[in-house]
Order: sequence, then structure tokens, then C-alpha cells
Amino acid sequence: MPDNSPNSWEARADRYNLYGFTDLPTVEARGAVVVTHGKGPYIFDTAGRSYLDANSGLWNMVAGFDHQGLIDAAKAQYDRFPGYHSFFGRLSDQTVMLSEKLIEVSPFDRGRVHYTNSGSEANDTLVKALWFMFRHEGQPERRKILTRINAYHGVTAVSASMTGKPYVGTFGLPLPGFIHLTCPHYWRFGEAGETEAQFTARLARELEDTILREGPETIAGFFAEPVMGAGGVIPPSDGYFQAVQPILRKYGIPFVADEVITGFGRTGEVWGCQTYDFTPDAIISSKNITAGLFPMGAIILGPELADRIQAASEAVEEFPHGFTASGHPVGCAVALKAIDVILNEGLLENVRALTPQFEAGLARLAQKPNIGEWRGKGLMGALEAVADKETKRPFDGTLSVSERIANACTDQGLICRPLGQSIVLAPPFIITPAQMDEMFDKLEKALDKVFAEVA
Ligand code: PMP
Repeated sequence: MPDNSPNSWEARADRYNLYGFTDLPTVEARGAVVVTHGKGPYIFDTAGRSYLDANSGLWNMVAGFDHQGLIDAAKAQYDRFPGYHSFFGRLSDQTVMLSEKLIEVSPFDRGRVHYTNSGSEANDTLVKALWFMFRHEGQPERRKILTRINAYHGVTAVSASMTGKPYVGTFGLPLPGFIHLTCPHYWRFGEAGETEAQFTARLARELEDTILREGPETIAGFFAEPVMGAGGVIPPSDGYFQAVQPILRKYGIPFVADEVITGFGRTGEVWGCQTYDFTPDAIISSKNITAGLFPMGAIILGPELADRIQAASEAVEEFPHGFTASGHPVGCAVALKAIDVILNEGLLENVRALTPQFEAGLARLAQKPNIGEWRGKGLMGALEAVADKETKRPFDGTLSVSERIANACTDQGLICRPLGQSIVLAPPFIITPAQMDEMFDKLEKALDKVFAEVA
């Protein structure tokens, strides 16, 4: 129960905050969780209660909430040079070093990097860069962007238009020219009698038919998350990226991997595109790039797009784009340390080492009569609740089943995220086997409680 006294943290939080992406009935019933500090994968609220955050904040606090090496890197850079931009040919040494590092760890042998403050802005930036490039190349009509239903690419006007969720309609979006293809989720969208290979082939045909219908000369890019994250952790159907990439190549359409969640280790490789064995033309990065300690996004261009966008910039004498804090020296110093910590201090190894335990936990809970499917890759996973396992019929939306499960988790000191009818888990990379057991034990109790109420 929330503490409703006027000076409680809950009341103070409610008074002046316009909550975003927040289920208001839940906040009304429970009060906001006002967090004071963290330790490892745990956060602590103002009443001193601890919660195992099985979502790593918003997927991003992969080194936990008190990683001293990262904190020290930020402090040291604040002492050295606490803030700058990247305009006018002036930029910090940390920014130069981070761009070198990003190309080094990217799947590209060379390329270019441009910084933003968030993943949304990175998607917007790359769409604008593609429009800029095609305009310079004499194809100004190449403006349409292809994404998928259930994709999440952000909240700015362009990135929300790329997002394939119904709520973007509440803003009168998408903007014209943003086209959403079928979500590559075989379990949910495969037709009766259709094999997974046939499903993938159907989606590839849909892509080509869409390109031909719209006119290839009107399409500026295809953006895809290697594993859809905020859509409910949806790995692609078998062979999906291998099927779509040749079609995109055939029509000269740049292929962008939005690796905001999957980048830097989440799927068990540095990049999700490596997990799924394809090389995109560019990568969108954010979140893990600073292990959540500094707001940052980046577009990482492979060689061809780097050359073409650079050529357009040279032709008009500048790429007229950038944010005040793009390439912020503290963000870059933290990112350099975060990349080192993830790749060289055992975090990526821990993702790989704990994936079997994670998958086994999901598979065990998926045996419950009201779990239709478990999905996952590396340390990102989901359990999808269903009213009927046989027919995959979802629960009536008014029952708010996934919200109730998440609330029953919160009651026990576990944070996990309801997304549609799924419960999503994406623990920090530093989680231990015992903490993972704690996560699944608490989730199981929550599932049993809620299913007993609604099933
Ligand atoms: N792309 C993907 C795949 C994301 O998951 C997100 C955020 N969850 C974004 C873009 C947007 O990032 P941000 O919230 O930093 O704007």
C-alpha cells in the first residue's frame, strides 16, 4: 500500500512528475518506487526495501548499480575535462578514442561514428543521414523507412514512427512513409500448417512485394533489432536475416541493425548481428555502451555508408546535425571503460556462462499451463502468458495479467517488466547463479499467485 501522507516520497513523486511509460492505476494502487541507491543487481527504495532488478534498469545497467571502476572513470574525467561538444572540428580526446574503439569492436573493418544522447536520437540521426546522403546522390525521393510491427526504435517523432506499436497512434503517428512489415515471430504469427521456413520465406516475399509496390527508388532504409526487445523479446524466425538481406541489397536499400539493447553483450556476442550471423550496413548503439552510467547513443557506419555520407558532407561542406552534448567527454570516458569492463573483465563471459541456467529457468516456468511460450537469447528472455495454451488465446486485456504478475514480483522484491502479455527478464551481466535462482523462485511465486486468481 502506498504511504499517502502528503510528505511521503510516493506523494511527492506523484505531485510534480508527469510519468511516462507508467501504468497509472499501478502507481495509484502501489505508489511509485523511489530509489535511493543500488548494490550489484539490487536497487533500494526510500523505505530501505531491496529489489533484484531483473531488467537491469532499462536493459542498460549491465554492470550493476555500483560498479566502482565505471564510477571512477566518470570521476576522473570530470576532474580532467568535465564537458564539451563535437561541433566545428573541436572535440575531446575521449571522443576520438571512443570512435576508434567502436570501429575496432564493430563488425566493420573501417567506418565512422556520430554521437547522440539516446537511442531514439541515434535512430533519428541515421534516418536524417540517409535522407541527406540520397539527396546528395540525386535520389531525393528515397525517404521511406521500413521497420516491423512490434519493433521499438524510440520516442522522438521519427523513431516513434519507426516503432511498430499501436500506441504511436495516440500521437497521430507514424509520419507518412514509415512502413511496418510483419513481425518475425513464428509462434504468434505463423499460419496454421506453415513451417518456420515457410514463414520466413513468406516474410521475405512480403518485404520484396512491399519494395516493389512502394517503388525501390522511394525507400531509404530498413531498420531492425536483431532480437526485438520492447516488443516482448522476440528473436527472429530461423533464417530471417539471411532471407531479407539479399533482397535489401538487390534494391540498394541500406540495412541498419538497431542494437540499442542487443549491443555489447546482451545476446552472448558483442553484437546481436554476430549472434545471428549477418553484417548490416550500420549499427545503432546506446544503453550498454556506457553500462547505463551516462546518456549516450551512437550511429556506427560501416565502410560503404561512411564513405557515402562523408562524400555528401564534403559536397555541401558540412553534415548539419549534432546535439550539444554529442560526444560528451565524460560519456566517452565512461563508454571506453564500460566497453573494457564488458569485454575484458568477465561480463560477456558471464552472459555466456549463465545463459544455460537462464534458459533452463525460462523453460521450466514455461511448463505452467498458462505460459504459452518462452523466448530468449543470451540474457534477454520472456514468458508469454496465455489463457489457453493449446489455442494460444491471450488473456482478456482487462485482466492486466502481466501487470499483476509484475506487481506480485515487486511485492517480493523483484523487478520484472510486463510487456503486452509477456513478462520480460534481462538481468545485469554481473548476476550470480544464486541471484538468478532467486529471480526465478520469486517469479514462480508471482505466476502461481496470479494464475490462481485469473485462470
Ligand atoms: N531502439 C531500441 C531497440 C530500444 O530498445 C530503445 C530503448 N529501449 C531505443 C531504440 C530508444 O532508446 P532511448 O530510450 O535511449 O531513446
